[in-house]
Amino acid sequence: MAPQKDSNCIFCKVVDKQIPSKLVKESNDYVVIRDINPQAPTHVLIVPKQHVRNIAEFEDADALGRLFQVARDIANNEGLENGFRVVVNTGTDGGQTVDHLHIHVLGGRALGWPPG
Ligand code: 5GP
Ligand code: ZN
Repeated sequence: MAPQKDSNCIFCKVVDKQIPSKLVKESNDYVVIRDINPQAPTHVLIVPKQHVRNIAEFEDADALGRLFQVARDIANNEGLENGFRVVVNTGTDGGQTVDHLHIHVLGGRALGWPPG
């Protein structure tokens, strides 16, 4: 079955290649792309092909776990052996700007804490 889409959604268009992006990896279930406005030397986004707004609306715990495994594997492939950060901005207060679930993987420099 084809993944559910939202025709107004930027990341659905990225998934469908209607919007070009720097593709790092693709599977049946997700794409991994470089963020258009990187905040660290490595800044990639893991984007499930299915249109789900955010983790608050994502029912499939196994699929969510697999996305975190992908985050770990990408960090390995990107050589982030000094550490990295996995971020899932969720909703307005969480700073989510694209309402299609995505996982940020950031690394390649020492990252500050706490976030703003
Ligand atoms: P959020 O703030 O929703 O957690 O993150 C959205 C991220 O998507 C931002 O870091 C932003 O730079 C990135 N972004 C927005 N539009 C595009 C796009 O068209 N292509 C790519 N590769 N990244 C995008
Ligand atoms: Zn979408």
